[in-house]
Amino acid sequence: MDASVSGDAGVRAWAFRLATGPRRNISHDGYADDAPRSYQWDSKVANSDGPSVGDVIVLWSEHGSLGYSRIDTIDRDNGTKTGYRCPNCHRAKIFYRASKRPVYRCQDCKREFNDPEVIAQEVTIYRAHYGKGWTALSSLAPDQVRRLALERKSINSIRELDMTALRAAVRHPRF
Ligand SMILES: [Zn+2]
Repeated sequence: MDASVSGDAGVRAWAFRLATGPRRNISHDGYADDAPRSYQWDSKVANSDGPSVGDVIVLWSEHGSLGYSRIDTIDRDNGTKTGYRCPNCHRAKIFYRASKRPVYRCQDCKREFNDPEVIAQEVTIYRAHYGKGWTALSSLAPDQVRRLALERKSINSIRELDMTALRAAVRHPRF
């Protein structure tokens, strides 16, 4: 028995969602992901302080689960993140429309434009490493992952999962 499997007090489970395909909300750039080994996020995302070393993670995308593991380490660095804003009201809720011109529309003030305002935001960049215990898992459909979340209506890229329900949903879980 792996030592990491014993002594589970305080261990939480998290779903890390990989962005795939074009993003409609372009208020920040996508992240470079090294899926089976590490996952990066920043202090602007919800639950950014939640995941801890030893926690269980499930990586998933809109196609379903990809695998699970435990977090070995988490790097924290200061960084900047490119943000995009409406040039009129300076808010971030701007959406890209692939089939329309101008290509951006602001949800707040309704202004349409081609060139968003570009700003640099100071953030903490987190990178969780979990390659050691990576186990491929493709059996969970996207809706199953959503239902395992403590907040089922969440649309956050990092969501806390119900550990008991997760263990029941995975065949022979190694956590
Ligand atoms: Zn606006």
